[in-house]
Amino acid sequence: MKKEIIGELVGIVGEDWVVVDLSQMQSYLYDETELKIRPKACEDCVVVKPATAEEVSEIVKAANRHLVPIVPRGGGTGLCGAAIPTVPSIVLSLERLNKIVEFDSKNLMITVEAGVTLEGLLEEMKKHDKLFFPVHPGDEGAQIGGMVVENAGGVRAVKHGIMRNHVRGLEVVLPTGELVNLGGKMIKNNMGYDLLQMMIGSEGTLGIVTKVTLKLYAKNPNIGTLLVSFNAAREAADVVAKILEQGITPLAIEYMDRESALVSAEHIGLAYPATQGSVDLMFILDEASLDDLYAKCERIVEMCEEFGAVDSLIAETTQDQRTLLEIRSNVYTAYKENIADALDIAVPPASVPDLLDDIRAIAKKYNTISPIAGHIADGNVHNFIMLADGKLPDYIEDIRNDMYNAALKYGGTITAEHGTGRTRKKHMNQQYTDREIEIMRGVKKAFDPNNILNPGAIVDVMD
Ligand SMILES: Cc1cc2nc3c(=O)[nH]c(=O)nc-3n(C[C@H](O)[C@H](O)[C@H](O)COP(=O)(O)OP(=O)(O)OC[C@H]3O[C@@H](n4cnc5c(N)ncnc54)[C@H](O)[C@@H]3O)c2cc1C
Repeated sequence: MKKEIIGELVGIVGEDWVVVDLSQMQSYLYDETELKIRPKACEDCVVVKPATAEEVSEIVKAANRHLVPIVPRGGGTGLCGAAIPTVPSIVLSLERLNKIVEFDSKNLMITVEAGVTLEGLLEEMKKHDKLFFPVHPGDEGAQIGGMVVENAGGVRAVKHGIMRNHVRGLEVVLPTGELVNLGGKMIKNNMGYDLLQMMIGSEGTLGIVTKVTLKLYAKNPNIGTLLVSFNAAREAADVVAKILEQGITPLAIEYMDRESALVSAEHIGLAYPATQGSVDLMFILDEASLDDLYAKCERIVEMCEEFGAVDSLIAETTQDQRTLLEIRSNVYTAYKENIADALDIAVPPASVPDLLDDIRAIAKKYNTISPIAGHIADGNVHNFIMLADGKLPDYIEDIRNDMYNAALKYGGTITAEHGTGRTRKKHMNQQYTDREIEIMRGVKKAFDPNNILNPGAIVDVMD
């Protein structure tokens, strides 16, 4: 990285907040993308840590003058290589923008700086025990800004949806350096194109988010977790629509095949409570009264039994509930060392039973296994392509394409919540027409004529 650029960055944020030493920079060069498929980071980078939106703006203007790319950096928990600088870049860490700006009880909203972590937000919310923020991707080290631009989902989307449903306002530094406020605290806004929504899911390619206003919701105090076991994945998948159709909307409905649950439980040293059947559904419900909670749990169990459930148990204590959620949340980490690629495909929810059959058939075709866990009511399945003898299998491209095509054939998507980034970018034309991609490139060019922000992720001006 040119000395002149480093000098300008030091001038903006001060010497203490510019990292040029490679050993101190390492933890800023990669995200959580699986080791064997993540792109190699370029080491000719500089890490800069601004403390204000104005400093972010100055850095972006400097980058435009020198035509040096910027890769915004949140918590580094991303799973698509979006935060990995693959060319000489300024890595702009948001970690110092970590203040809670305002808790607005009258509008039921909270405004935070983009570098506040999910853990930090949850800690803050403990002070306001009547309200909560629903979105919870598995790693609480994720920053709110990162969750916005990845349009994060997680287990609680059944009732409350994904980040897109809760972001009301954003302060953003555009790729050309201007500071703008998109949206606000109003609930409705039909004036012009919705640039706020465009920023959500943009993976650091259209702007750097510096402040976020989020909608909050009244908390239901009675929480229960139900684990129901089935002998067949299809039975478990089929009952989900029936439950939702009855007007029962749990916070979460998660699917795990039993092998995955056992591997995860063992990995974190917990006992898995279900013994019968071969697949499980985990329901998390939050209800206004205990009576409602028990009535809905009972109704769910009845319906599951009609679809062939062989066992069920309710976790009433917070500890038992936490155990089940921990086991579900750790399926990915338990397998991680042996995963070649953790997929994130989704289909219309009614097509999940067919998709699960397809996944098993595809795994069989390649004489391998593909463990499955997923946000089943959202139609979002996480299944893994496994390493072969510790290496990427020679059929990796073929099996991945088969899995993607299985999702697309039902009108689904290659990635529901983890993002396009750098690892899935080459598959854009599997899901979109040339014209659709051309329009996306036009959007990128309108925001970022110099291709400064996170080039290499999603689409580039020059692709
Ligand atoms: C164990 C585990 C479980 C997970 N479970 C889920 C899950 O259930 N659901 C889910 O949706 N995701 C999940 N994730 C993925 C990840 O947590 C989310 O994608 C998260 O939103 C990333 O946030 P981050 O701050 O870590 O972003 P990073 O990884 O740092 O960055 C991701 C992208 O956002 C950009 N970026 C970051 N901050 C900003 C900003 N302020 N302005 C502009 N661009 C920015 C980066 O340039 C990059 O392109 C999981 C990850 C792990 C490791």
